[in-house]
Amino acid sequence: MSKGSRRCRRCGSHEAVIRRYGLYLCRRCFREVAPKLGFKKYV
Ligand SMILES: [Zn+2]
Repeated sequence: MSKGSRRCRRCGSHEAVIRRYGLYLCRRCFREVAPKLGFKKYV
């Protein structure tokens, strides 16, 4: 694991990884997980 690498911890994608809330998920995965976490406004 290299420091500073921003990868989605769910699918490993590098695209648009969201570090907000310490989720470290790409937009795709974030949209899938968001509802479960209570981020309904992003769906
Ligand atoms: Zn992902």
